[in-house]
Amino acid sequence: MSIPFIDLQAQYARLKDRIDARIHAVLDHGRFILGPEVTELEEALATHVGCAKVVSCASGTDALVMPLMAMEIGPGDAVFVPSFTFVATAEAVVLVGAEPVFVDVDPHTFCMDSGDLQAKIQAVRDEGRLTPKLVIPVDLFGLAAPYAMLEPIAGNVPILADAAQSMGGAVGKRKVGTLAPITATSFFPAKPLGAYGDGGAIFLMDESMHERLTSIRVHGMGRDKYDNVRIGINGRLDSLQAAVLLEKLAVLDEEMELREAVARRYDAGLQDVAAVPGRVKDSQSAWAQYTLRLSARDQVAATLREAGVPTAIYYPIPLHLQTAYRKYGGGEGSLPVSERLAGEVLSLPMHPYLDVPTQDRIIATVREALGAR
Ligand SMILES: *Cc1c(COP(=O)(O)O)cnc(C)c1O
Repeated sequence: MSIPFIDLQAQYARLKDRIDARIHAVLDHGRFILGPEVTELEEALATHVGCAKVVSCASGTDALVMPLMAMEIGPGDAVFVPSFTFVATAEAVVLVGAEPVFVDVDPHTFCMDSGDLQAKIQAVRDEGRLTPKLVIPVDLFGLAAPYAMLEPIAGNVPILADAAQSMGGAVGKRKVGTLAPITATSFFPAKPLGAYGDGGAIFLMDESMHERLTSIRVHGMGRDKYDNVRIGINGRLDSLQAAVLLEKLAVLDEEMELREAVARRYDAGLQDVAAVPGRVKDSQSAWAQYTLRLSARDQVAATLREAGVPTAIYYPIPLHLQTAYRKYGGGEGSLPVSERLAGEVLSLPMHPYLDVPTQDRIIATVREALGAR
């Protein structure tokens, strides 16, 4: 019996009637792009997290690109991003013509390291070639980046949160979506809040950027749809995705509790034999991934594969060593933690519907692969 890495079918079986009804409502009314479900979703998301406004969009990548465009970030500007992340974080920066400056991460939380951010901002100022314009910390694997620590270091350089992996997470009573002035997320199917296709959203703590973002989302349109007042993109979310997301949002908090229970069972079963994910006091991870650090990672992954336990490596190459991004970084040895993690991380199956017997089998198999019982 093979174990799925993420079980979207279990979730669909649970929500089938409601999701099917929502989808059929869209088929009946026929307003497929920016239809009523899109507005409903934006309002539901804003209420859910407690922010001023939400602008939905076509992907998590667009959710990063659109605020960069709205802030008019471009050539000559430096945007600070972690190197240990999914490529889209840095790609968005290059797409608007700015330069990513790679920052190292903390080895326990996998999130942006505040000491290295300070060093990198100072280095850019000292060099004088680029202007520090933005910091994009990433809530890697679902755990919110340490915004309270990063903010004073960033100073007058604004922060955009890449929360593509952390929808549903929180720090104390503050939900992801409210931890930075602007937050970008993704609704790619495998993310904690996933659609049945591509989608994304931008969360705003005040309304000042709202009009600019809705304009950019539709080709930079002005009040007159055919007088475009700025350069935009086609960044619209479709109504079918919004319809699906509305039903999934309704169970998101409950799914967070289920994910937390899975993470606790992994912790209890593995913390004596492997480096389990670091916890941060008062911070609730959305557990997009449950990621171990292992010195014999590749060997363990191979053993698990043979035993029918799927694993994944997020991410095998830090961005500053990837072909298209090398020119922006300092090469091998420049970001030692990111480079080390790339060789040590191994993510285990994680989703809200992972049952106890299956999880026990995974834990036992990992222990065996590590030569422990
Ligand atoms: C998935 C992801 C994105 C991009 O989201 P898409 O919806 O796939 O465009 C951006 N940043 C991070 C950290 C991600 O994990």
